[in-house]
Amino acid sequence: GGFFNRLKLGGKGVRLENPVVQAVNGVSFKIGRGEIMALVGESGCGKSTVAKTIARIHKPTSGEVRIEGEDIAGYGFAEMLPVRAKMQMIFQDPYASLNPRQRVRDIVAEPLLEQTKTAQGRKDVPARIEALLAKVGLNSEHAGRYPHQFSGGQRQRIGIARALSVTPGLIVADEPVSALDVSIQAQILNLMKDLRDEFGLAYLFISHDLSVVHHIADRVGVMYLGSMVENAPRDVLFAKPRHPYTRALLSAAPSIKEKRDKEEIVLSGEVPSALNLPSGCCFRTRCPFAWDRCARERPALQDVGDDQTVACHLIDEPERDTA
Ligand code: SF4
Ligand code: MG
Repeated sequence: GGFFNRLKLGGKGVRLENPVVQAVNGVSFKIGRGEIMALVGESGCGKSTVAKTIARIHKPTSGEVRIEGEDIAGYGFAEMLPVRAKMQMIFQDPYASLNPRQRVRDIVAEPLLEQTKTAQGRKDVPARIEALLAKVGLNSEHAGRYPHQFSGGQRQRIGIARALSVTPGLIVADEPVSALDVSIQAQILNLMKDLRDEFGLAYLFISHDLSVVHHIADRVGVMYLGSMVENAPRDVLFAKPRHPYTRALLSAAPSIKEKRDKEEIVLSGEVPSALNLPSGCCFRTRCPFAWDRCARERPALQDVGDDQTVACHLIDEPERDTA
C-alpha cells in the first residue's frame, strides 16, 4: 500500500550477458508516490543498470520490479504496453533519444498514440500535445520543427513532454541534466520539480553529481560496484553520511562540504573490475577503515534510525571509526 514502485534484485541480479552492463546484486528500494529518489555513484556503479532494469530495457535474471504491486520483472513486450502508461523514461542525451526525422508533435505524441486506440481518443491528441508543450515551456510553433533546431535544454523539454504525455506515475530519468550547461541544468531540474508538484509524479533520478542530487532529491541511494551501500532521506544523508564511500564522495564535493563538518576522506586506488569483485565488502580495496572482517563478510544494509540504512561493519564496531 502506498508504494508506487519497488525494486528488489537478489541473487545474481542482472547478469553480465553483455560486459558493458554492470551487474547489480542485492539492490532493493521503494519509491513512494510523488517521491524523487536519486541513485548516485561513480560511473560503472550499476545505477544506469538499475534504471534500465526498472524501465525494463534490461530484463533481470532474478528479483522483482513492482509497479503498484504488480511484478513486471518477467514481462515481455506485449505485457509491457499497459505498464508504459504508468512509467516512462528520459535519457541523458535527448538528441540521441529523439528521432531526427520526426517533427516535435509526432515525437511527443508517440507514447500517447501507443496507448490510445479509439478514434475519438486520437482526435483529442493534437490538443493534448499543445497543452503538453505549454507545460514544459515550449509553444505550438515549436511543434512543427525537428530536434536539431533546438538547444540541448529544449530537447530535454521535448523528452519530458513525451514522457508526460501518458500521465505516468513514475519517470525514470538517467542523468537527464549531465549533458547540459549548469545554468540550463537548474531550469530543467526546477521544471521536473514543478511537474512533480502538479501531477504527483515520482522520479527515479540517476546522477553522478551530488549537487544536482542535493537540488532535486527527497531520498538518495548511494551505489558502489553494483551494490547499494547507503539509503537515506536527502537531508539525513547530507548531514550525517555513515558509509565511508558516501563520506568520501561528500568530502570531495566542495559546495556541499561547507554545509557539514570538514571531514576529509580521500579515495585512493581504482574501482575494481565488476568481473572480479573483492570478497566481503565491495568497497574494502579503497576504504581507509577496512580490517579483516571486511574481507570475510559482506555487510548487509542495516537500519540505523532516521529512515537511514547503511551497509558497513563500522555500524557494529564504531570504535574502529577513527578518521
Ligand atoms: Fe570499509 Fe569495512 Fe565498512 Fe566496507 S565494511 S565500508 S571495508 S569499514
Ligand atoms: Mg550511466
